[in-house]
Amino acid sequence: MSETGGDEAASVRNYFDTEGFNRWKKIYGETDEVNKVQLDIRNGHQQTVDKILDWTAGIDMTGKTVCDAGCGTGSLAIPLALRGASVSASDISSAMVGEAEVRYNEQVKAGAKAPAVAPKFEALGLEECSGKYDVVTCIDVMIHYPTDRVNGMINHLASLSDDKLIISFAPKTLAYSILKRIGELFPGPSKATRAYLHAEEDVETALNAAGFKVTRREMTATSFYFSRLLECQRV
Ligand code: SAM
Repeated sequence: MSETGGDEAASVRNYFDTEGFNRWKKIYGETDEVNKVQLDIRNGHQQTVDKILDWTAGIDMTGKTVCDAGCGTGSLAIPLALRGASVSASDISSAMVGEAEVRYNEQVKAGAKAPAVAPKFEALGLEECSGKYDVVTCIDVMIHYPTDRVNGMINHLASLSDDKLIISFAPKTLAYSILKRIGELFPGPSKATRAYLHAEEDVETALNAAGFKVTRREMTATSFYFSRLLECQRV
């Protein structure tokens, strides 16, 4: 994916619909066709997902409405749906959200209990999401956008949530090591993607301005995966 400095969303979508799809489908899968770096990222990402599932474990998700914006292949949206939530899973990449739907259907076919309301899978940029939800999640998406754009994204995500907002981003404090490692993740010109790190203070300011306070924080750091996770509550 080349970054022109223009519309990041268009180049991100193009990346995740093509070479990024092949790469991340494997990382977010279970097969052993991954190299050591990809395996490390898979494990780190799974830790982030597990933390969110743990945070929400005490809540009866039956009938709770969830909007998972930038759902990828459904790593979070699917378990939440299988816990009974009414999930709207969307992603700017039709390939990624299409894979999420395939994976959900496979799990139900394999015997997982489907929720009363079937999840909705849609190819949609997060700023196009609409409606009101009990929980809005946006995990490992903001790394693709500069801070000025992220402020608008946070504002929009907040407007969708009646209660909780759970987001993650690559924190700026670990800038050097993340940049270095991201460089290692995307070797070669065709794989070059731009990664944006965000200062937690800036993110929190945007959350506060949008009417949310941070109630829990977590950091997941493996060798090649870094993600700051915030749980926020409408005040
Ligand atoms: N949230 C998923 C997870 O944690 O498993 C996927 C994370 S993946 C690193 C980033 C995802 O964000 C990709 O599927 C990509 O297509 C999606 N994405 C990027 N920009 C987006 C946008 N503006 N709106 C919606 N999805 C977006």
